[in-house]
Amino acid sequence: MTEWVWLNGTVTPLSDAKVSIEDRGYQFADGVYEVIRIYNGKSFTLKEHLDRLYRSAKDIQISLSIDQPALTRELNNLIAKAALKDAMVYLQATRGTCPRNHLYPETACKPTILFYVRQLPPPPVIGQIDGVKLITLPDERWKRCWIKSIALLPNVLAKNAAVSTGADEAVFVDDNGTITECSVSNFYAIIKGALVTHPVGPKVLPGITRLVVLDCAGQLGIPVQERAMTEPEAASADEIFITSTTREIGWVSHWNGKQTASAPGLLTDRLHQAFRKRVTQETGYEFAAPRTRRAIAAPT
Ligand code: PMP
Repeated sequence: MTEWVWLNGTVTPLSDAKVSIEDRGYQFADGVYEVIRIYNGKSFTLKEHLDRLYRSAKDIQISLSIDQPALTRELNNLIAKAALKDAMVYLQATRGTCPRNHLYPETACKPTILFYVRQLPPPPVIGQIDGVKLITLPDERWKRCWIKSIALLPNVLAKNAAVSTGADEAVFVDDNGTITECSVSNFYAIIKGALVTHPVGPKVLPGITRLVVLDCAGQLGIPVQERAMTEPEAASADEIFITSTTREIGWVSHWNGKQTASAPGLLTDRLHQAFRKRVTQETGYEFAAPRTRRAIAAPT
């Protein structure tokens, strides 16, 4: 199956596409990106992802050479060409190609913009999803985490450190002992019936899944508190979960090797089902029916 890439306006097979060695994305990680989920061959929350892309680009002074309506059209064309029910789009925009220099030229650099569609497995059945094993690691990232930068080395190292210890994901603890987010996902705890998550901004990416989940919480009447949590508060929460575009909602079963739950919590489950309802409303995707739960999580 051919994977197609749109590179600066030209569509070619992914394996044929070429970007210069002097592209600033390659030499300086000087760029931004997005990952967008395709359900039923249609994008989910595309506008929200593109709003964030243009914000990220603006905040590092990259002026994208295509406007949002035109980019939306081009994306939809490639998504239709790929004709995949379950997939994702990876989109990247760098400052472009110019002779290597930390100082970027005001005008000579034209952004390199590319995106491609890649098949994904269908979403897992709710009730059959394994719990996520988290380990804590110091948050060593920069203080502009609202920008979805392609400079991901601290995230890459943290994710690999987590997996090398048998966990799935790293959750970051900042210098104040506060939980911020995870290496590739946002972090939430249910504490005394409220959904608690760190505010977005310097330390936390404004996740698009987070946006939808907080909206679902509002509709379900679950109080939301956007505030910092200490590590002990988060680790002993009634329910813990994480979110991202490709994962949706992942309930957490382990914290630094210790089991915290044996099944997803009631509110985590309700939020996940509400999230999927949104997906169905927007894309027409038909999810498999949730399976009956073994038991409601009880922290051990
Ligand atoms: N935080 C970080 C650090 C991430 O890399 C991601 C995934 N890109 C997220 C949160 C979740 O964001 P989204 O819901 O937009 O995928």
